[in-house]
Amino acid sequence: MDPRQNLSGLGRYKKKRSSVNHILYIVNMSKDNFITRIFCPACKSTTHKVIYSCEFSAPPVRDYIEAFYAPQGGVELKYLEGGRFTLRECSACGVIYQEEIPNEFLSQKLYEEWLDPEIALKQHLDSKDLNYYSGYAQEIMMLIAYIKAIPSRLKFFDFAMGWGRWAMIAMAFGCESYGLELSRSMQEYARSHGIQVISWDEMPHYRFDVINAEEILEHIAEPLETLSYLKNSLKAEGIIKISVPDGHDIKRRLSISDWTAPKFSKNSLNAVSPLEHINCFNRASLTRMADLAGLEIVNMPLSLQYACSTNWRMIKPALRNILYPLYRSVLKRGTHIFLRQKQS
Ligand SMILES: [Zn+2]
Repeated sequence: MDPRQNLSGLGRYKKKRSSVNHILYIVNMSKDNFITRIFCPACKSTTHKVIYSCEFSAPPVRDYIEAFYAPQGGVELKYLEGGRFTLRECSACGVIYQEEIPNEFLSQKLYEEWLDPEIALKQHLDSKDLNYYSGYAQEIMMLIAYIKAIPSRLKFFDFAMGWGRWAMIAMAFGCESYGLELSRSMQEYARSHGIQVISWDEMPHYRFDVINAEEILEHIAEPLETLSYLKNSLKAEGIIKISVPDGHDIKRRLSISDWTAPKFSKNSLNAVSPLEHINCFNRASLTRMADLAGLEIVNMPLSLQYACSTNWRMIKPALRNILYPLYRSVLKRGTHIFLRQKQS
């Protein structure tokens, strides 16, 4: 698991402050540690069909959860008793979302106890290779070139920054670099590396040129409201980058239901990982949610994507350099997109 996700209790954080909770949620008294979502979190539609359901504390979901958290700290299954892992598919926008999600107490357990920060930092430092860092450098260089400004005049903001690597690389390019994070360990780490750490409530005081929302919207209870809130901190010509797991063929994977399939493998169910990946998007549903938030896709010029590509020393990243811009911009596929405020 990417340690960035270790902080994404932003759903919990957000829930405390949301004025729409009473509409969106039912506190299910018979399932103490869960709340039930009754609307699509991406478009608010109530029409849906259930495409999968299993108790959290019964196989195969229980076994997946145990195997998932064991290397990262461990899980206390007793807190999952009574809850059901139920996937709804929104009939209006196509988002697949978990109906029952962890409440405040369980989110705390999940993100701050079951995922041990020390283990997460060690895994982060041990696993991130040159491809990881050069990917960020390539993207940040492309964004600066697209905006056509002197880097020192730009403000970059990493929303749910994890250990803050993206923000650090933006800073290395000369930009002012800000980040938000719930985990105190991660906040301190980022701050000690020069990142200006701000809180959710401070966000409206800022206007950023670029906002990074990477591997976060799949975790949070109210992604549409969060995206709208992010837009309020974006300059008129600014860009929001979103990336989420691509769920375009998740129904095929669910039909196979191989809960032991490794992440990134053909049948992996990571995009609907129980408790954590509570919203599963495809390109269309992500674009639809962006539209509702007043945002639209930026058609990043292919020439710019290729001009800013780096790391051609190995076959895999080289192929990615060639193919991903075509996949994203010509075929219009994938869930790693750039957004701006709607122009019309
Ligand atoms: Zn929907």
